[in-house]
Amino acid sequence: MPNPKERLRYFQEREKQIVQFIRDMVEIESPSDNKQAVDRVGALIASRFEGLGGRIKFHRATNFGDHLQVDFESPHKEKPVLLLGHYDTVYPLGTLAQMPCQLRSGHLHGPGVYDMKSGIALMVAAIEALKTWHGELPRPLTVFLVSDEEVGSNSSRAITEILAKKSAAVLVCEPSYGPRGAVKTARKGIGDYRLKVTGKAAHAGLDFEKGQNAIVELAEQIRKISKFVDLKRGLTLSVGTIQGGTRVNVVPVEASVTVDVRIAHMKDAAGIDRKLRTLKPANRKCKLEVSGGMNRPPMERTKKIAELYQEAATIAKEMAWKLDEAAVGGGSDGNFTAALGIPTLDGLGGVGEGAHSPHESVDISALPRRAALLAGLLEGEIPDKR
Ligand SMILES: [Zn+2]
Repeated sequence: MPNPKERLRYFQEREKQIVQFIRDMVEIESPSDNKQAVDRVGALIASRFEGLGGRIKFHRATNFGDHLQVDFESPHKEKPVLLLGHYDTVYPLGTLAQMPCQLRSGHLHGPGVYDMKSGIALMVAAIEALKTWHGELPRPLTVFLVSDEEVGSNSSRAITEILAKKSAAVLVCEPSYGPRGAVKTARKGIGDYRLKVTGKAAHAGLDFEKGQNAIVELAEQIRKISKFVDLKRGLTLSVGTIQGGTRVNVVPVEASVTVDVRIAHMKDAAGIDRKLRTLKPANRKCKLEVSGGMNRPPMERTKKIAELYQEAATIAKEMAWKLDEAAVGGGSDGNFTAALGIPTLDGLGGVGEGAHSPHESVDISALPRRAALLAGLLEGEIPDKR
């Protein structure tokens, strides 16, 4: 069995193949809202896992691409580890024309290269290596790649949760954090609310006093909402969009905002929900309506998650690099699995920058060590092993 440095070298020698597979995936665009496109990249990925001996199962989705489950058996009868990720991206079809998949000064650029097609290539590389080194997998694995993560995972969440409950641990190959590639041991929970004010329309000149101005009322409510922010607790509310009014000379009957809510602690969810739902109009003649709710629970850094991070940090240290951990505001499907109490380590994917932006890219020189880290975790003593 190769020692840690030899393993790193093994992946360094295969860097070109890893990059080529990332490129193949990036060159098939896969926006969440285009089923055909997403299914195309799903088929390519499935064929790679099938070539490694995985059993393919597509979970059909009507409005999104199908979700891909791949099961790998092992003679060692333990609970599987779940490798989790997604192959949809935020970029509409045609983005490749302005943002081609290109190698520039050690970075591979392109839509979805960092979030998270490089993470999928790392999964493939790690599984292939384990088979080469051991002739078999050191434990059963389930890969689950969803097609709707960038739009909230509504059609895949239930499957993710079922698979997580059967697993000893969940390793999420979403992008790592920062230039040093920290893994993510905590993520905020996310809520999505809408507040709508209904007032009374009137001619702004002839009937001013008969009107009830929905925009003025909404402005009052926005000030109240902003006061719910508690940075010390990691609780934030951000008014993201605003709409209202029809014409300058009409007292507006309607106005609304959408509010992004982030919580670091699950116990804050009910409190903030209640505060939003019990907002009272300042102008009694206006009516308030609150809709929406929490979408993803927070991933809180439990003892089991800390142990999993320790395991990863030790593997990294054996290869002479330091792996940091980070708590981030963004969510992933790891939020769902962590909230079920399943040890979850996130941010195991590529090192790069510019997710969801025109300069999205991944650092090629970091790919071998990320693959080696993932392989090491899969064959190591996952703390919850049974
Ligand atoms: Zn992602």
